[in-house]
Amino acid sequence: MNDENLESRIAYRNHLLTKWARKYPADAKRVQDAHARVWYFRGDPEEYTCLCGATAEEWQLVILDNWEGKIILPYSEDHWDYAAFCTPCAVDVFERRWEQLLGR
Ligand SMILES: [Zn+2]
Repeated sequence: MNDENLESRIAYRNHLLTKWARKYPADAKRVQDAHARVWYFRGDPEEYTCLCGATAEEWQLVILDNWEGKIILPYSEDHWDYAAFCTPCAVDVFERRWEQLLGR
């Protein structure tokens, strides 16, 4: 994966998140609160190693059994439904999760 491609994928993810957060502010707030809970119970993602071996940078929802919210703004009340990823892998997770949730 080249950097330019990664940058445009990150930019697109941010664009979608911003757009949906504006459209659904209550859901965006719940996503924020859910992330705060994950930080509270599990700590800074930088204390973890991503699956690829890099230092993790962010928490991402990976277990979709209990998700609530909107397809672009999913969250879970259970902090164990999240895993720590570096940004490039987090973008993969975001895109894959979006496809999975759309397919339901
Ligand atoms: Zn990674």
